[in-house]
Amino acid sequence: MKQILVLSGKGGTGKTTVAASLIALAEAGAAAGGKSVVCADCDVDAPNLHLIHGGHGIVTKEDYYGFEKAKIDPERCTRCGICEPLCRFDAIRNFQVNTLACEGCGVCEAFCPVTDENGRKAIHLEQNVSGTTQLFQQGDWVFSTAELKMGNGASGKLVGQVRKNLYNAMDKQPLAILDGSPGIGCPVIASVTGVDVVLIVTEPTLSGLHDMGRLVDVARQFGAECLVCINRYDLHPGYSEEIAAYCSRLGIPLLARIPYDPAAIEAVNHGEPLVNVPDSPAAAVLRELWVDLQFRLWPTVQA
Ligand code: SF4
Ligand code: SF4
Repeated sequence: MKQILVLSGKGGTGKTTVAASLIALAEAGAAAGGKSVVCADCDVDAPNLHLIHGGHGIVTKEDYYGFEKAKIDPERCTRCGICEPLCRFDAIRNFQVNTLACEGCGVCEAFCPVTDENGRKAIHLEQNVSGTTQLFQQGDWVFSTAELKMGNGASGKLVGQVRKNLYNAMDKQPLAILDGSPGIGCPVIASVTGVDVVLIVTEPTLSGLHDMGRLVDVARQFGAECLVCINRYDLHPGYSEEIAAYCSRLGIPLLARIPYDPAAIEAVNHGEPLVNVPDSPAAAVLRELWVDLQFRLWPTVQA
């Protein structure tokens, strides 16, 4: 199986627009007898791929338990006050735990003097629902996604679960397209591990150039091949040329320069992949990008 991960250095670059279009093109190819595709939204902090690609087939929805959180049993707590000053995250106030602040370190539990006959302390760590996973399946088509609950720090673990759900549900589909998180944080590290290709969607701005460089460093450390496309390249041709020069210096293929196209906003508003919009100049470039990607993934086989 080949895995493509679509990433961007920051939000708002059009990453999901590109990912959704590639998935739509891959699905159209599969429907015409080509290679089947599965997909996942690894942007668990702000998932939105389901607005375009989810919602059909059999859905399996489950709570996800990430890190444990402390909980006080008010029946047994003697209000000795030992735990509160020990918490370096200030998560305990007035004999109550603020679960948003609790990091699950377990110090409070270790020092609580009240233990029941089962060895359970008056303050103890408990499983905590960190988010929800969803898996959509219809025939060969599988789509895995999840949403992290606000204030939870288990984003990397949840991305791991999204990918695990995807791989467990798929059969022998030869291609997986993953929509990643913006930035280079924990969820990106969890999504880049083991992928073949990272397609970086950047934009012609100084931060676009800078963030792309950081992403390249991360992707290369994990052994993934980097490819780049510039979204809305014509909004600042100067920076687009700088990005092209950067790619050339590092030997990174610049696969596409996608023009600014108001149809992209319309497509998002209608929950449609951009490639479904007829006569869209950006969609035409995305189709070429998809053809190029397939030749890179399967160089000896015409996809
Ligand atoms: S588990 Fe750690 S962070 Fe949470 S309340 Fe206890 S001491 Fe504070
Ligand atoms: S250390 Fe235990 S008994 Fe003391 S206040 Fe905290 S929870 Fe209550």
